[in-house]
Amino acid sequence: MAVLLPEFFPGYAGLSHESGPGHPESPGRLSAVLEVGERLVSEGRTRHVHPVSEADLSLARTVHERGYIDSLEEMGPGSPSRAIDGDTRVGGATVVALKETLGMVRDLSETPRGIARRTFLAMRPPGHHAHAGRGMGFCAVNPLAILCALRRASHPSERIAVLDFDVHHGNGTEDILRRLPGQDSLLFVSTHRFPFYPGTGSGRENSEGASGEGFLDIPLPAGTDDDDYERILEDVVFPRFERFTPGAIFVSAGFDAHRDDPLGDMALTEESYRRIGTWLKGATAGPSAAFLEGGYDLRALRASTLAFLSGWFGE
Ligand SMILES: [Zn+2]
Repeated sequence: MAVLLPEFFPGYAGLSHESGPGHPESPGRLSAVLEVGERLVSEGRTRHVHPVSEADLSLARTVHERGYIDSLEEMGPGSPSRAIDGDTRVGGATVVALKETLGMVRDLSETPRGIARRTFLAMRPPGHHAHAGRGMGFCAVNPLAILCALRRASHPSERIAVLDFDVHHGNGTEDILRRLPGQDSLLFVSTHRFPFYPGTGSGRENSEGASGEGFLDIPLPAGTDDDDYERILEDVVFPRFERFTPGAIFVSAGFDAHRDDPLGDMALTEESYRRIGTWLKGATAGPSAAFLEGGYDLRALRASTLAFLSGWFGE
């Protein structure tokens, strides 16, 4: 089988999504990550990929409630943005960006089993806080959860594992995954600061099935550093994935646990993200895809994305 170059999806439409003046979730974040992609393309370590076509927003109904998606569909490309919660805005430009990202999600859902395909989705807005019925926490819809549901339908026996290493608990993703069919072939693992926004992820609802399936929330104290995190990865996270033997891995890649991040109050450096990337490269024989989530210091975000992708795509 030919070895395929890892893929980098530059979600250019995400540059036009506006979270609001002075908001940490800025278009400049995506620009920083796109620079990393261009560098890796120029070095022959990845190639840019684009969706065959944008997807209709109705694809989001796979996991989101009809009324919520209806309200997004009512917006035309030029619709002004409006607040959907205290720190989240959605407008016409947001919908255009979502359709582009969902086009990639649709394409990934059809990837044949057995191809070692690695895809990084450089997208805005992020997605892991979005619940079935509403967006929140800078997130409008949840592309990773939609991909999980689509693959559940297209590859019913596939063992799907999700890793969320954003500093915030992936509450929307967890909530949606708990409602998917085939719970005995689903693993969700989230490492996050706790107690912290959005208030969930204490670990009290963790479960572990006979083959490692289930839900594993790993709450971390503020100030967690590379050494602490390495121990969690080696002792808890990686063994759980090994036990589960995933046929596909989808990742919420948020880089806001970096020590320079203005929101996270953690102490990781980019080396922790390189470690995850290196592990991810060998963690499944099937497809893997990582979605850009948080990361609010531009320099740290650039360095962390580069380190993660260097580990995952190869130095
Ligand atoms: Zn976050």
